[in-house]
Amino acid sequence: MLGLMQDWPLTVDKIIDHAKNWHGDREVVTRSVEGPITRTTYGQIHDRAKRVSNALKDWGVKPGDRVATLAWNNDRHIETWYGVMGIGAVCHTLNPRLFPEQLVYIINHAEDRIIFVDLTFVPLLEAILPHIPKVERVIVMTDEAHMPATKLPKAEAYERVVAGQSADVVWGDFEENTACGLCYTSGTTGNPKGVLYSHRSNFLHTFMAMQSTVVGAKTTEVILPVVPMFHANAWGIAFVGPASGAKLVMPGPKMDGASIYELLETEKVTFSAAVPTVWQGLLTHMRENNLKLSSVTRVLIGGAAVPESLIRAFNDEFGIEVLQGWGMTETSPIGTLSNMTPETANMPYDEQIKYRIKQGTPPLGVELELKSDAGQILPHDGRTYGHLLVKGPTVARAYFRQDDAILDHDGFFDTGDVATVDELGFMQITDRSKDVIKSGGEWISSIEIENIAVGHPKVELAAVIGAAHKKWDERPVLLLKLKQGETLDKQEHLDFLQGKIAKWWMPDDVVAVDEIPLGATGKIDKKLLRERMKDYRLP
Ligand code: ADP
Repeated sequence: MLGLMQDWPLTVDKIIDHAKNWHGDREVVTRSVEGPITRTTYGQIHDRAKRVSNALKDWGVKPGDRVATLAWNNDRHIETWYGVMGIGAVCHTLNPRLFPEQLVYIINHAEDRIIFVDLTFVPLLEAILPHIPKVERVIVMTDEAHMPATKLPKAEAYERVVAGQSADVVWGDFEENTACGLCYTSGTTGNPKGVLYSHRSNFLHTFMAMQSTVVGAKTTEVILPVVPMFHANAWGIAFVGPASGAKLVMPGPKMDGASIYELLETEKVTFSAAVPTVWQGLLTHMRENNLKLSSVTRVLIGGAAVPESLIRAFNDEFGIEVLQGWGMTETSPIGTLSNMTPETANMPYDEQIKYRIKQGTPPLGVELELKSDAGQILPHDGRTYGHLLVKGPTVARAYFRQDDAILDHDGFFDTGDVATVDELGFMQITDRSKDVIKSGGEWISSIEIENIAVGHPKVELAAVIGAAHKKWDERPVLLLKLKQGETLDKQEHLDFLQGKIAKWWMPDDVVAVDEIPLGATGKIDKKLLRERMKDYRLP
């Protein structure tokens, strides 16, 4: 027997409709690419997004067509998202930090017809233009006064497009499984792979993100997503803002410590989200200038493991709680969060930190398993390493235009991460499976060593890779980028690790390097690092 409730397709246009109807005057503040701080409201964003929809229709965009954005976090970018998605077209967020040849690959693979580009990236797009012949039209997200002279096809200023259209258009006239967003993973192995979100998956992800154990936004909250809209859906925040009616503060092109600090303070931000490197930059800025934060109470840090030193610094020096999140493009991206439980909440901080540095537990909507190479379910004992697999309505079941099956026989997606789960249910990522160091048949967690090593006051960045070893196959080597003016004393760094990691995890060597390369989403590029160190031999 079926239930007798209404059929109300879960399409994301309803999120911005809701914001207009109930939080229409709530502000969205942007540090614009042109320079000034600009202010708009959900009501205005709704109106202008509808004008974008009408322009797209005029240009012949049909449901399912791909329309790309190459833009920072700003109000026009939000309008474009909703304008594209509202008519059933697919918004493909391009990551400007990809190598130009990867951008060419994904634009062609997705067959993007139109690209909305921020002023910053006009030269980037011009450089690759000869290689993306199917792009018919480029809209530059600025006003006519700032419109550059360009040979981009049918180039027009965004403000001119919006001014020339009516706001009268029907949205959401399709079923909820219709595709609405496309985001490629940065492809640390092989070509980038496209994750195609649906209206339903993004709608459910918004509900997930609004759980108090995730973003948990109240209407009174002020949220600053530093995490880019081109990186895994901005972790859902461009949907959570309008859905909850919280004020949004968009950092635009400036993500350095000083710029972020200024926005956090002047706009009275209560909650923010970013990758660890951004928080590290903010921390340095605040320490150097003896600053405090007056309104921020919680920050979400994820995308890469969060070092203990960072969690402690925010807690001890600024009284701010760090919530660590784990996820990936394929999971929309929420996977797990390091929320305290009744068992851990009252522990002394030194005890509790052992849980805070873990990636935590899944919210409702994510199923999670630890499996062996043979697909056997492994125990939650905090020691047994296994492949981390996930399942749920916001997890990919296939990649865009790829036939390969990506789910196991139980319908689980292999995240490519290796993890443990402890008795209290806290999951901890120990490595990406391709970065794992296998010494004498046992796994060594490079991430755990890195996170401790980076806490040494002379260290700016740390990375651990495996080096070939006659007896043990592989042994860990600690690579350090030291802070300016510091010199390497190997023993000092080994002593620093002493007692914090198992004896047999101790790196066999410590090497100072000029640079630790970061990939397009701000994570250490181990593949490139291994490539650079290929002639290295253990002493
Ligand atoms: P890409 O792979 O394109 O860089 P993703 O954002 O999809 O981009 O990367 C997801 C991966 O990032 C995860 O599979 C995991 O390895 C890593 N990751 C994300 N969050 C964390 C975290 N809190 N701790 C450790 N690793 C993380």
